[in-house]
Amino acid sequence: MNMSIRRYLDGNTDYLMKVLAELIAFETVAPPGKNYPEVVDYLIPKFQDMGFRTDRIVVPQEVFEAKRRDSRLFGERVNLRARLDVGAEETLAIYTHLDVVPPGEGWSSDPFALDLREGRAFGRGVCDCKGAVAGLIAALRAVIKTGHQPKYNLEVLLTTDEEVGGYSGLCYLTDEGLVRGDKMLCMDTTSDDVVIGSNGLITWEVTVRGMAAHSGASFMGENAIEKAVPIMAALLDLKVDIESRRSSLPANSSLRELGIDRLMPILNITMINGGIKENIVPDRCVLKGDRRVIPEETMEGAMDEMERMIASLPSPPELKFHPGYPPMSIDPDHPWVAEVRDAVRTATGREMSFSGMQGTIDQAYATKVTGIPSCVYGIGRQIESNIHGPDENARISDLCDYPKFLAALIAG
Ligand SMILES: [Zn+2]
Repeated sequence: MNMSIRRYLDGNTDYLMKVLAELIAFETVAPPGKNYPEVVDYLIPKFQDMGFRTDRIVVPQEVFEAKRRDSRLFGERVNLRARLDVGAEETLAIYTHLDVVPPGEGWSSDPFALDLREGRAFGRGVCDCKGAVAGLIAALRAVIKTGHQPKYNLEVLLTTDEEVGGYSGLCYLTDEGLVRGDKMLCMDTTSDDVVIGSNGLITWEVTVRGMAAHSGASFMGENAIEKAVPIMAALLDLKVDIESRRSSLPANSSLRELGIDRLMPILNITMINGGIKENIVPDRCVLKGDRRVIPEETMEGAMDEMERMIASLPSPPELKFHPGYPPMSIDPDHPWVAEVRDAVRTATGREMSFSGMQGTIDQAYATKVTGIPSCVYGIGRQIESNIHGPDENARISDLCDYPKFLAALIAG
């Protein structure tokens, strides 16, 4: 990275922290997903001052209502698209989300007031993902103020409702054809690894039917909970089979320390509901769970497999699926992966391994629909940052390194 950009960033960490503090003070908590118009209106002049053209993209109310799966969500869904055309051959899309999870209990300081202590920054969203948004603004400002020019045209997408799952702002922009570029950086993860893949997610629901009766004469009825037992046993057999598979993608480095070397598929039973009273034979038992799909599998294949197993049972129960985000992957030898890893090395001196995420990410939807090669790299450390918990925090040094990483990527 150019020395003048590095020096500029080192001399302007106050600006970075000021922007971060201002972003954190917008309580963009989802659910309900509030203060989106306010935070976007705050960001627009910042990008315009740096020569970007900005679009304030509101998800139409009818689309929002049709796609909403969580009734606690309400209000305007305002997303920001900021574009800078420098006449470069290639366009880099940079994405993250503006919403944060609710603060919850147990904070040592106000979650919406940035608190710097013991070399760390505390506040809801410092890692996930407002630190990256502040870092992006600081990086762009440093590139421009030092008289440099981005080597890519830039397409910045800052969006809504990532934290609630389902149809996020990025999904809407994707469906509208507004996710464009030759390569894409998603800033929504930790800085433990450069993430080049993720699992897909399917949630499922099995309904076992029986017949209610007085439990003193239970032979007159049909006990749905007892009928669910062999179904659960069959699901657990399938679980063993599924979870013996491995992706070719390495697992996150913190999982590798626990002995999980590679991304793996998962089948869980996570909810069970049946019966209304001890002396009534239950007529219904509902099992719910999820299936995590590695990039080598397909969503359809995973659903077929489970459907076939359920259909082979003596009296097959009803089975329903709710597919979420698909799996994502990029060839580890793709030049974009090397470029992102090089930028991290340039900025921090750290040699980054690449890995896949066991979780899911809305970036995967954009990647699948657009085919743009995507890498994910953000702020925070899985083991120490308490992301989504109380006292979410990032090392101040990590926050200050991030704009250097972006500047190295954007300006070379
Ligand atoms: Zn996030």
